[in-house]
Parts: sequence; structure tokens; C-alpha cells
Amino acid sequence: MNILITGGAGFIGSNIADAMIEKGHRVIIVDNLITGKKENIHPKAVFHEMDVRDVKIENIFFKEKIDVICHHAAQMDVRKSVVDPIFDANVNVLGMLNLLQMAVKHQVKKFIFASTGGAIYGEQDYFPADENHPMRPCSPYGITKLTGEKYLFFYQQTYGLKYVVLRYANVYGPRQNPHGEAGVVAIFCSKMLHGEQPIINGDGTQTRDYVYIDDVVAANLLALKHPQSDFFNIGTGIETDVNKLFRVLRDELKSTAEERHGETKPGEQQRSVLNYDKATSILGWKPGVDVETGLQRTAAFFRDKHK
Ligand code: NAD
Repeated sequence: MNILITGGAGFIGSNIADAMIEKGHRVIIVDNLITGKKENIHPKAVFHEMDVRDVKIENIFFKEKIDVICHHAAQMDVRKSVVDPIFDANVNVLGMLNLLQMAVKHQVKKFIFASTGGAIYGEQDYFPADENHPMRPCSPYGITKLTGEKYLFFYQQTYGLKYVVLRYANVYGPRQNPHGEAGVVAIFCSKMLHGEQPIINGDGTQTRDYVYIDDVVAANLLALKHPQSDFFNIGTGIETDVNKLFRVLRDELKSTAEERHGETKPGEQQRSVLNYDKATSILGWKPGVDVETGLQRTAAFFRDKHK
């Protein structure tokens, strides 16, 4: 199949691209390299440096005969979305609409969308949240991801475009960008290796559901084969707090960093964890990498990169 991966130079998109190429698919990547890196791009992928909002993207659809769009390009920084909600909506809503219009016009067979289980449900009423949990996003980022899902429903109803929504928990692993605000595992690894002091926001008891990149890649491969339109949580059902992350990484990297706490970030969720039963029963997906193993592998990646 000819698969267009937007954001394919980024952390998650590039790992998916590698796996899809490995499976024999032809992968076309569109990325404007705002956070992505050329070095992440598989040599066998066809790369177009372009913004997903660019109308010239149509040339790629004419040329490449795209069967599936796997949409991972996004403004994905929650805090930035609060500071600049217009930019967030511009990329996440208008960029997606540009692709959806192309999908209909060029008879794309399926649209896989990287959504968020962490930001879409907001403060949870119960733990872990399943897909029926009320959706009360507390950030513009969560709102634009939810909007993306609603557009998919519209395009499916109106034009028959098939879609699979994957609501990721907190994804971590090799190639995550350590220089942004998001991605605490990558940030801690990078700071510990550079001898800088990592700061734990607040008391560090806030929890997240950390899902390893290989499991997220596996969910995308299953989504490719799934014949119906549907949406799934992709998480582990297990909460890990930031203090534990810090300690595991410090041991793994043999760091001497002290456990230092900073201010609580305003608006930060205290707990977030996803129920993945639906993905297991319908997609046949379940997480295969526990958080200790995943953190070891991630620490090893950053250690090798640092050498
Ligand atoms: P990332 O920043 O590494 O990847 C995003 C990629 O999109 C980058 O390569 C960037 O250059 C590209 N991009 C951004 N704006 C673009 C634009 N306007 N046009 C073209 N390319 C553009 O982030 P990631 O962690 O790999 O996230 C990938 C997707 O997964 C995003 O949609 C994100 O919202 C979603 N997601 C990530 C997580 C997580 O924990 N990392 C959790 C839930 C959902």
C-alpha cells in the first residue's frame, strides 16, 4: 500500500514509518521539520518537506496515489496550546481538514488519526478511563484533537471515508524529543546525561499512563488492517508517578542528580490512565512492554546517543 505518514520525521511517526516499510509498504512522509528531524527519516521513505496546511499538498496526492493517511503531524505541546490556541487550531484543525478534503477527492481508503487519551477526557471521573468516559478536555490541544475526531465522523457519514482513531496515553521511547515541554522521560534522560538538574513539577505524585513506542507502532499496524471505522484507547491501564520515573531513570543512567521539586504547573492533571479493553477485544492489541523494561530501553537509547 502507499501510505502517507504526516509527521513522519517526528518521534512516533518515524517509528511507524520504519515498521510500515519493514512490512513492505511504500511510505511517503510529509513533515515541515518544526520538531521532526531529517535523521529520523527512513532512507526508503519518500520525503516531502511541507506543511500539512499547504494547498500544494494536492500535488503529492496526484503523484503518489495514496491509499492510507496516517496523520501524526500536529502542534502537540499542551502548554503551547494554552498560550497560543490560534496556532494550535490552525495546525491541528485546518491542517487536518486540508488532508480530509484531499482524502475524499483522491479516494483515500483509510485515515488513521493520532488522538490523545491523556488530554481528551480531562480530569477523570473514574480510573482507568474507557472510551465512553465523558470528554471534557482542559486544554486547547485536547479540544482540537476532539474536533479532529468529530470531523472524521462527519467525513465517514458523508463521504464514506473509513477511519481509525488511536487515543494514545503518554508515549515514550527512542527518538522522543527531549527539548520541548512535553515528554518527561526524554527530558529527564537528556538532563541526567548532560549533568543538568531535572526538575520534578510539584510533589511528583501526579500519574500518567506510559505506553512504549513499540506498542504504539503495533497499534498502527493493526489499525491498517482493521476493516471498520472505530476509536480505541492505546494505553497500559497502569499509573506511574513522576517520582518513580525519576528514580528508575536515575538508577538506569547511574546519575547523581538529586530529586528536586519545582512549582506545580497550573492546570496540570493529577491523574490520567486508560482502559484498553476495547483495543484488545476488537483490534487484538495489548501492551507488550512494561514500564520498567520500556524505561531501560529508552535510557539505553539516550545513553548511546550521548556517547
Ligand atoms: P513530534 O513533535 O515528535 O512529531 C510531530 C511531527 O509533526 C514532527 O516531525 C513535526 O515536525 C511535524 N509537524 C508539526 N507541525 C506540522 C505541520 N504543520 N506540517 C507538517 N508537519 C508538522 O511528536 P510525537 O510525540 O511524535 O506526536 C505525534 C502525534 O501523536 C501528534 O499528533 C501528537 O498529538 C500525538 N500524540 C502524542 C502523544 C505523546 O505522548 N507523544 C500522546 C498522544 C498523542
